[in-house]
Amino acid sequence: MDASQHAILYITLGCAKNEVDTDRMRSLLNAAGYSEAQDTDEADLVIVNTCSFLASATSESIETTLSLAEDVHDGVREVPIVMCGCVPSRYGDDLPGELPEVAAFVRADEEDGIVAVVDEVLSCERTLPAHVPDVKRTVEGAVAYIKISDGCDRFCSFCAIPYIRGRYRSRSADSILSEVRDLVAGGVRELVLIGQDTGIWGSDFDQDVPGPRTLAQLLQRVAEAVRPERVWVRVLYLQPEGMTDELIATIRDTPEVLPYIDIPVQHCSERVLHAMNRSGSERELEALFARLRREIPGMVIRTTYLVAFPGETPEEHEEMLAFMDREGFDYTSVFAFSCEDGTRAAKMADQIDEDEKLERTQAAVDLAEALGFAATAAHVGEVAEVIVDGIEQADDGPELIGHAWFQAPDSDGAVHLDAAEACVGDILKVEFTDSFCYELIGHVVE
Ligand code: SF4
Repeated sequence: MDASQHAILYITLGCAKNEVDTDRMRSLLNAAGYSEAQDTDEADLVIVNTCSFLASATSESIETTLSLAEDVHDGVREVPIVMCGCVPSRYGDDLPGELPEVAAFVRADEEDGIVAVVDEVLSCERTLPAHVPDVKRTVEGAVAYIKISDGCDRFCSFCAIPYIRGRYRSRSADSILSEVRDLVAGGVRELVLIGQDTGIWGSDFDQDVPGPRTLAQLLQRVAEAVRPERVWVRVLYLQPEGMTDELIATIRDTPEVLPYIDIPVQHCSERVLHAMNRSGSERELEALFARLRREIPGMVIRTTYLVAFPGETPEEHEEMLAFMDREGFDYTSVFAFSCEDGTRAAKMADQIDEDEKLERTQAAVDLAEALGFAATAAHVGEVAEVIVDGIEQADDGPELIGHAWFQAPDSDGAVHLDAAEACVGDILKVEFTDSFCYELIGHVVE
């Protein structure tokens, strides 16, 4: 049997980084002759790309796989499941015994070999090698995520990512820029650069590697590569230490790069940050944000608060809430600390009681929402450009949806547009007439 007779269904869990990995596997399998299925009825094999960032994400990945197994192993037609990504990376050796429903496991760093795995599971024979060295992305829509690095060297004491994804590895500038050109030629209107720690991109290159060596230099090259098209460039997952003078100046002076900064601070207390194996203090963070706002007026800031880290006192929790309130962040993701296997924080003695954790998390969510809703409402009356993302079904019929430069796709809310027609990827000038929660209502001006 050859590959062209088989269709594959892709299910992606977790963050945008996983979407990029699924897209690469899809591209490799498409290039090797496989087609894509839209549901389990059409599928000859299902790939589940899993997340294991938190214990809850691991459970969701396993539950999804088990319920899929019930669905596709119903005695009528067997559809094999291949589990990829973070769960096999984290629990690889234990999984075959625990999940006999799964035909094969592929760790995150083995995903470039997906064609051989699928060939074997489906007993596909091929005369030519399946390796495709330079596959094109299969992105549809106006926005594309580009992974510029993988892994992490920071070893925050609460985080399993360095154990799952390995040490920090920057992707080469040539490979990133080639993907940028392909995506822009394919009609993409926003490029979102991601990685576990984007600010230190290039720091692991050998001294003799030519071309850009810092994130700022890479952003300048990306901006040159997208011209003359009108394309937004956004960077996510910067750490405070990554905000160099060069990077701040590049964000300020490069029109394509959006004045949107995503810096997950996790906490402001120097003691808690130290216990998290992170650096910094409230004073340093305040100075950084004051400088960003001074040098890049109108800058939008997204951050993260990890609530109830072991030993966080009620006073330190209040200190963090006061810090959030003073800074007035546009968007704050709030995570409750969870014990992750193999991390140092999981073994710390002074774990916070679950009821207390819940209470602190709720207080942080309430504040994050109050700040975020107010920041969203502050845009009412402004006129700004909005990228059209698609159509959603509203109570009174289909509605065009887009996002403004200050809204990261899939994270920060959307703009509901009153236009009768537009195409995905159109950039419209829009006046914001009202808001609810993180959403804006937009009247198309041109
Ligand atoms: S910076 Fe810290 S939280 Fe982020 S991926 Fe690295 S170790 Fe995890």
